[in-house]
Amino acid sequence: MATIPRDVTVDLSIIVPVYNNADTLDELIDRVVAVLEPMAIPFELIFVDDGSRDGGLRLLEGRADRDPRIRPFALVRNFGSQSAACAGFDLVRGRWVVMLDADLENCPEDIPALLAPLREGYDLVCGYREHRDAPWLTRRLPSRLMNAYVRRQTGTHIRDVGCGMRACEAWVVKGLEAEGEARRLLTPLFLRRARRVTEVPLRPVPRRTPPGHSFFTLLAIALDYYMLTARRPFLVSGTLSLVGGGVGAAMLIVGPRLAGLVVAATGLLGGLLSLVGEYCQRLYQLGQGVPFYELRDRDAERARAEAAEREAALRAARR
Ligand code: UDP
Ligand code: MG
Repeated sequence: MATIPRDVTVDLSIIVPVYNNADTLDELIDRVVAVLEPMAIPFELIFVDDGSRDGGLRLLEGRADRDPRIRPFALVRNFGSQSAACAGFDLVRGRWVVMLDADLENCPEDIPALLAPLREGYDLVCGYREHRDAPWLTRRLPSRLMNAYVRRQTGTHIRDVGCGMRACEAWVVKGLEAEGEARRLLTPLFLRRARRVTEVPLRPVPRRTPPGHSFFTLLAIALDYYMLTARRPFLVSGTLSLVGGGVGAAMLIVGPRLAGLVVAATGLLGGLLSLVGEYCQRLYQLGQGVPFYELRDRDAERARAEAAEREAALRAARR
């Protein structure tokens, strides 16, 4: 087996968050290696163990002893898959990143399809599952609603924000501090940063294990995402309250006095609460210490554009 020293630069970093997936890790590694070795692309496989209790970490360390392309890391406790992925982003050494789930619900054989657009100069390639083996009411319907909300919010056309398999330029996943707490749902974040985005269909995979995230966890993530990203949540409630207050005032003059008083007072109270909420929201954002800007690396962008052009010329010459 070809080995590379640990300090060598690699082109591709595969990131895999791991939580109690000891059963699938050996097969996952073998399949990733079988896909990438023929492509002659120097790669590393970064595993971030998220507090597993099933011996998966020892298995990974054993594999790493025999193959330095495998780099296992471990979080001190279970932080959740998004945090484990973020830890992986800080460890990336390649210029391209591919994210994979550890439970083989993503096929390593799809990696070349995700890499092809990156070579053409795309910043982000999202996988999408055309045929999902998941319950309609608790999985596919909520996921449809969430996809529609994220599409509206990010102004993109991505169909499957919940898909764990994506590929991107390393800069997209580096320096995520600039995004504040919004790091908990990753795909919309990448969509916000990347400029050239596309998606590729993934091959259908039968589900091997029950869904990892429960319906309520997904609901909490969705609510969290709304709270973190809605630009002016209190503008809506404030406007509605003021309208209510106006209706109440009109009722006071022309209609039933007591009902008018209750409606007007409720509207006024709602308006004041929304104002306080607006201040809290601003303080909350300031408190995160998020930088006000992030500079683009124009030199690196030019180098990438030149590389994509060379790649296109090579492909044209081969045809
Ligand atoms: N995962 C993790 N920490 C967790 C839960 C999951 O690192 O607390 C990993 C898990 O090992 C897998 C990926 O995140 O690689 C997706 O998790 P899972 O398959 O359980 O979720 P699903 O999307 O299938 O519901
Ligand atoms: Mg899964």
